[in-house]
Amino acid sequence: MSEVRVRIAPSPSGNLHVGTARTALFNYLFAKKNNGKFVLRIEDTDAERTSQEYVDNIFDSLKALGLNWDEGPDVGGNYGPYTQSERFDIYPKYIQELLDKGFAYECFCTPEELEAEKEEATANKKAYVYSKKCENLTEEEKAKLRAEGRKPAIRFNIAKAQKAFHDSSILEFEDLVKGKLHMDTDLIGDFVIMKSNGAPTYNYAVVIDDALMKISHVIRGEDHISNTYKQILIFEALGFEVPRFGHLGMILAPDRSKLSKRHGATAVSDFVEQGYLTEALVNFVALLGWAPSDGEEVKPVEKIAEDFRIGEISSSNSIFEYDKLKWMNSHYIKALPIETLKEMLKKYLTQYDLSSLTDAQYTRMVEITREPLTLLSDITDAVPYFFGGAGVNVEPEVQTEVLDLPESQEVLKAFVTQGEDWEWTEHNLHEKLEVFRGEFKEKGIKPKATMWAIRGAITGRTRGADMTATLDIIGKENCLARVKKAIKG
Ligand code: GLU
Repeated sequence: MSEVRVRIAPSPSGNLHVGTARTALFNYLFAKKNNGKFVLRIEDTDAERTSQEYVDNIFDSLKALGLNWDEGPDVGGNYGPYTQSERFDIYPKYIQELLDKGFAYECFCTPEELEAEKEEATANKKAYVYSKKCENLTEEEKAKLRAEGRKPAIRFNIAKAQKAFHDSSILEFEDLVKGKLHMDTDLIGDFVIMKSNGAPTYNYAVVIDDALMKISHVIRGEDHISNTYKQILIFEALGFEVPRFGHLGMILAPDRSKLSKRHGATAVSDFVEQGYLTEALVNFVALLGWAPSDGEEVKPVEKIAEDFRIGEISSSNSIFEYDKLKWMNSHYIKALPIETLKEMLKKYLTQYDLSSLTDAQYTRMVEITREPLTLLSDITDAVPYFFGGAGVNVEPEVQTEVLDLPESQEVLKAFVTQGEDWEWTEHNLHEKLEVFRGEFKEKGIKPKATMWAIRGAITGRTRGADMTATLDIIGKENCLARVKKAIKG
């Protein structure tokens, strides 16, 4: 087999979508598996919908996911200029070739004329296909239209190409994922390949680029299947080798509708902003259509690459289970080295004065709060009581259901008296609190109630991180000050 060359060809009309990330990943994995090349091409022929901000987002997101491209736009790597808008001088040449070979023709129809054709089709309850009105215009007729100031678009002549390379109007291809697919090309209609302003359209530019970039396999979403027939005919008409195609099922929301913002994040950068780790995201999207041979779902991308086989991709749609992604994310958070986690969490702790903690205290705080984190951003609500010095916000229920109880008040008074003399280290606090609980147990107060009172007064909550470590981080002075504030009268 000649060299495997695949590509991801996002249109910068939005931030990188997880669906595109999955397509990119499957292309990347396929390239890795076959010692091939993974090419990035920015498809920005539609200038109105394109913005540099989205281009940058695509670069950043792919890089964050570790899907580094071997060729494509230069982002510090000296790659090729694979941005369609920078290739506009390449496209006219092949348009001319198609015109010369009779596989394309100039179309002078105005938008109003085309609209009228469409309306007629709708009125007759017919699917619209272009009437081919301009297919056989004579040179005189064309000249006359030009003289009227009309500029032609170029249309591809489907029937001509189909007839030249196939026995009937049926076009068939063997999809790597879906198996044999076919379509009656009479139903397609001659489509525009170059607009009257000279801009190439997607279906045309994509073929020229895939051909010139020697793309061997086109792996993309199944929403492109109908385009594939058009593209195969252009490849054939220009005498280019037709690549293999593989179409991935769609990604649906848990309610089986199209995944959209109302279901949650959809752009990679939004997931990252919310505190998902890119390692978790990559692992999760790999499972949207692919399953590991050993059933072990949590796997870094290098391991997935070893196991990946394109023929094993499911041809059906996949459901984007946000809960499963959360589960996977918590798994990856647990596996992070503490120093890495400390750095990553800082972004979510900007509302707190981290400089009030020593590095050792910050480390310990992260160690004792990381366990329940599903998202990195969960840290924000998990740690307010480590800050604020002598004060703490007490939750209303903690006040009424814990601190207001007479036995809690008794516990707190004793805590202040005894605590003054305690050496405030984690180890020592552990031992002292054990004895303290024991004393109150003898007075008929359950150990749990004793601890609730102390935790409630110092953290304002009844649940939280490891108690002795928490007290140690907050420090003796602040702990005792908070308890004193919780004592009434
Ligand atoms: N620019 C196209 C898109 O974003 C890519 C199509 C393709 O992969 O051929 O959908």
